[in-house]
Amino acid sequence: MEQGNSKYYAIVLVIFSILASLIMSLDLKMKYENKLLRKEINNNILLNNNIKTLENRINEYSNIDDSINTIKEEYFSNIRKLEEQIQEGKSDAKIAYLTFDDGPYQLTYQVLDILKEKDVKGTFFVLGKDAEDRYKRIVDEGHTLANHTMYHNIGKGLYKSTDSFMSQVNQLEDYLYNITGYKTNLVRFPGGSETANTYHVRDSIIEQLHDKEYKYVDWTCETGDGSDKRLAQKSEWNWYKDTCKDQKIMVLLMHDYNAGTVKILPDIIDDLKNQGYLILPLSNKSVMAK
Ligand SMILES: [Zn+2]
Repeated sequence: MEQGNSKYYAIVLVIFSILASLIMSLDLKMKYENKLLRKEINNNILLNNNIKTLENRINEYSNIDDSINTIKEEYFSNIRKLEEQIQEGKSDAKIAYLTFDDGPYQLTYQVLDILKEKDVKGTFFVLGKDAEDRYKRIVDEGHTLANHTMYHNIGKGLYKSTDSFMSQVNQLEDYLYNITGYKTNLVRFPGGSETANTYHVRDSIIEQLHDKEYKYVDWTCETGDGSDKRLAQKSEWNWYKDTCKDQKIMVLLMHDYNAGTVKILPDIIDDLKNQGYLILPLSNKSVMAK
C-alpha cells in the first residue's frame, strides 16, 4: 500500500512540476510578448508622429502655388504703385521692360542664360511651338510668359475676325496651361495693336480681351531686330540707342530668333543698369498694359 502511495505522489509531483514549468514558460513568453508589444506601440506612436509631421509638410507644399501667387500679386501691385509714382513725378526711378516676341526658338536658351547671369527678369510673348522645356524655364525662372497668339498668321486669317483672333489666344492659353500650369493674361498683338486696327478688329478684340481679364501691351522702343531690311539701315545697337532714350518707363521690343539680339543683349542690360533702370517683368497690372 505504501509503495502504491509513493508511486501516486511521484506521479502527482511529476504532473505538478510539468504544470509549473509550463506556467513559468508561459509567463516568460507573455512577458516577452508584452515587451514586444510595448515596443511596437512605441514605434507606432513614433510612426504616427512621423505621419502627422509629413502630412503637415505635404499640406504646406500643396499650398505653395497659392503662396507664390499671393506673393506675385503683391510684387506686381508694388511695381504698379512705383509706375504711378514715376508718372506723377513723385519718384526718380526708371523702369525698363525687356520683351521677346515670336519664340521660343533655339536661341531662347541663350537669352534665358543671359537674363539669369545678369539677374534680371523679362517678358516672353510666345507662340504655340514644340518647346515645352523653354516655356517651363520661362515660368520657373520668374519671367512673364505672355500670349502672342497660337500661329501669328497676320494676313492669313489671324485678323479675319474678332473670333479668329480670340480663338488663337484661347488655344495658346490652354496649350501653355497644360505645359506650365500657368494661365496667361497678357497679350501682344502680332504686328502691334496698330496692325489689328488696319484690319478694323482692334477695338472689338480689346473688348473681348478685357472680358477675359486680359490686357495687351505694345512697345515704346526697339532694337529693330524684326526685319533684315530695317537692320540694313543701321545696327541693332543704334536702333536701341536712338529709340530707347528719355523714357521713364520703357517697353523694349526684341525677338529671340535674332542672333544679333543675343549678341548685344548683355550690353543693353549693362547700359540700362548704368542709366539706373530697374529691369522688371511685365504683368497685366502694369500701366503699360492697356
Ligand atoms: Zn510677333
